[in-house]
Amino acid sequence: MTKEKLVLIGNGMAGIRTIEEILKRDPDRFEITVFGKESHPNYNRIALSSVLQGDSSVEDIILNDYDWYENNGIKLYTGDPVVKVDKRRKKIHSKNGIVCEYDHLIFATGSNPFMLPLPGADKEGVIAFRDIKDCETMIETSKHYKKAAVIGGGLLGLEAARGLLNLNMETEVIHIFDYLMERQLDAPASDMLRRDLEEQGMRFHMSKQTEMIKGKDRVEGLKFKDGSFLEADLVVMAVGIKPNIELASDTGLKTERAIVVNDYMETSAKDIYAVGECAEHNGIAYGLVAPLYEQGKVLADHLCSKETEGYHGSLMYTKLKVSGVDLFSAGQFQDEEDTRAIRVHDEFEGIYKKVVVKDNKVVGSVLYGDTSDSPRLLDMMKKGQDISDMNKAVILPSEDENSSGESPVISMEDDEQICDCNGVCKGEIVEAINNDGLSTVADVTKHTNAGRSCGGCKPLVSDLLSATLGDEAVSNQKEPMCGCTDLSHDEVSEAIKEKQLSFTREVMNVLGWESEEGCSKCRPAINYYLGLNKPEEYEDDHTSRFINERVHANIQNDGTYSVVPRMYGGVTDPDQLRKIADTADKYEVPMLKVTGGQRIDMLGVNKEDLPSIWKDLGMNSGYAYAKSIRTVKTCVGEDFCRFGTQDSIGMGIQIEKKFERLNTPHKVKMAVSACPRNCAESGIKDIGIVGVEGAWEMYVGGNGGVDLRGGDLFCKIETGEELLDTMSAFLQYYREDARYLERTSHWVERVGLDHIRSVILEDEEKRKQLIENMERALRARPKDPWAEVTENEAKQKELYEKKQLEVIQ
Ligand SMILES: Cc1cc2nc3c(=O)[nH]c(=O)nc-3n(C[C@H](O)[C@H](O)[C@H](O)COP(=O)(O)OP(=O)(O)OC[C@H]3O[C@@H](n4cnc5c(N)ncnc54)[C@H](O)[C@@H]3O)c2cc1C
Ligand code: SF4
Repeated sequence: MTKEKLVLIGNGMAGIRTIEEILKRDPDRFEITVFGKESHPNYNRIALSSVLQGDSSVEDIILNDYDWYENNGIKLYTGDPVVKVDKRRKKIHSKNGIVCEYDHLIFATGSNPFMLPLPGADKEGVIAFRDIKDCETMIETSKHYKKAAVIGGGLLGLEAARGLLNLNMETEVIHIFDYLMERQLDAPASDMLRRDLEEQGMRFHMSKQTEMIKGKDRVEGLKFKDGSFLEADLVVMAVGIKPNIELASDTGLKTERAIVVNDYMETSAKDIYAVGECAEHNGIAYGLVAPLYEQGKVLADHLCSKETEGYHGSLMYTKLKVSGVDLFSAGQFQDEEDTRAIRVHDEFEGIYKKVVVKDNKVVGSVLYGDTSDSPRLLDMMKKGQDISDMNKAVILPSEDENSSGESPVISMEDDEQICDCNGVCKGEIVEAINNDGLSTVADVTKHTNAGRSCGGCKPLVSDLLSATLGDEAVSNQKEPMCGCTDLSHDEVSEAIKEKQLSFTREVMNVLGWESEEGCSKCRPAINYYLGLNKPEEYEDDHTSRFINERVHANIQNDGTYSVVPRMYGGVTDPDQLRKIADTADKYEVPMLKVTGGQRIDMLGVNKEDLPSIWKDLGMNSGYAYAKSIRTVKTCVGEDFCRFGTQDSIGMGIQIEKKFERLNTPHKVKMAVSACPRNCAESGIKDIGIVGVEGAWEMYVGGNGGVDLRGGDLFCKIETGEELLDTMSAFLQYYREDARYLERTSHWVERVGLDHIRSVILEDEEKRKQLIENMERALRARPKDPWAEVTENEAKQKELYEKKQLEVIQ
């Protein structure tokens, strides 16, 4: 049977996605030919920002390589634009003279950047930001010139400016309005954005209108209407886009702002269709991929004779891809007479959230500084959910309510979208994970398209994998550290050592991170590996730590905190007990409780009281919240117990004092019992010590938690000194070899007890080295964090002061 001839004009994101959808539905139906003006296979235009910012290479952003076209029998002509369409004979003509017949023709010619018609706009060094060539020009220019000016303070302009800063250019942004991204942000969010970008080194010229571009052959500067002048060696115009419709109007298709299409993407001419930025549906030409991909699905259904409800328009939303800035905007975000808003403005944390409500429905939102609510809000908008019965705190939960540590993906419904660009919902991903045996983010992207465009949803996809398969199943695969990278924990930690990397951003840049800021999985892990590699030089990045470690206390389910002071070996005295009692009275601490680790827990403390409680106590932090050495539990031992063979209390105190405040991949619990009756439960500790006649037995890999595991007898040691050395070597090997967040019980099972024994007990050289490394790490430990906070007013203000929350309805 002869195939129908399908020709696509435009080898870009919308056109090729339409072809992919067609191949999914009916792979043998069409003989497909694609013409592209650019000389590349289809690439991810969205990711140009990441190429410019130095996070990806051009190769990384290719979506469909040449093999894909060949394997699917698609004839591809690159660098050869179509210049004429002969509707009557159903033929197209390319610039290089190729004539090609069609039965169906798709226009997907995208947009051209809008260039302000200023005198001097044709000078060398005046460019747009639209394609690979523009990126290459900026990168090349930065090698020879220093001063860049970006005209346009919208999304594209700011992404270009961030890239130019990364290229070490002095970057000035000129904006005609008095606030940035006025089409997506209201004034408070825009102010915060401007402040953050200024801190990154961007300089702004607001309410400025450019009159002309000065220079001889090459640009030398900008003259403004107010008479002022700005020197510039490069000018990037980012003032908007213009749908590319010249060929369509020459062909006689109906065009307005773009090529007019109906709900089935049909143009005014028979068998000619349009999708993407060049298409106009119901008066709107969309400039983001999500709507364009929805159009592509409808057109694929229509061409493959599948039933379709047609295209009925899309909700627009935006995220800015600039490192250090979290921003989300969707729908109607400005206040109107018939709207009301819920706002949260936390100036200390730099968070602004606004949800606009009309007729009891969320119709728009702006989130700045924390965009974790965006999937939920977007879903409410899309579904037109009635919120009249909902509590405002449910619509916009507070920071503490949000910081339970649980991924937002857990509470999402199956029909909620995880990848907004590609329209992929949670249920679809879970089904693919279960049915197709997927175990990595890359697998999920390949099977479902989730994460294939702006990449912002990859951390959520990664969380969903863990939630569906369990952390263990996921970690047994060669699993990337998180959705931001394809590299595993081992590979990242190895690379940090090998390349001697020193900062989180450096790790992300050098190792090609896909998301600029990283996520809650990779940032703490990188911070740990960096500290491990350079204990003396590395300055801990507290912003990369989980909430409990940031504030040095354990957050409880009601948002209060618990305080557990250090009591070495579980031993206390009247003085300490008096202080605890007095402090508990003074701050009306609702509960005091003895913990399983033999310490006293002061429960129900308000965050803002923490520094003064610590000051009044004058005791060290018990680290009950940290990935670190926790407690050393002891039995009463030989001094008091008639079965005791050793001084378990003395040894416990010695161990705790030696290793306290040491960072470890996960929490480490220890215990010392003075006989095999094991009253301190040494058998279920990460390291458990048991006294026997004339010696100590050392057990490792025990766990009394969810994954209950009895410790393995590691060795028997005669002296206390040798015991401390062996513990040093074991702990250091665990620190160096285990993956971040891997308990000793899992590590011992993964690498095997025999292997660990051979390293620590049989390889004299290696043991010595481990002990030396441990000594370095111990010397570099920070001082007690509670004492540090009580002496540091700036920290108290930053982390503990009551936040100014403004909730207006
Ligand atoms: C730097 C940057 C960042 C962006 N960030 C985001 C983002 O975060 N989120 C988002 O949703 N969107 C973003 N976008 C927008 C997104 O990239 C576009 O909406 C999308 O690429 C449009 O797809 P398209 O296929 O319609 O057009 P394009 O991808 O532009 O493809 C059109 C292709 O047709 C070719 N062509 C034109 N005329 C002819 C002809 N006569 N013959 C043959 N070929 C022709 C063009 O050269 C081009 O290659 C960003 C865009 C840029 C430039
Ligand atoms: S472990 Fe042995 S020595 Fe220690 S308290 Fe229990 S019985 Fe006594």
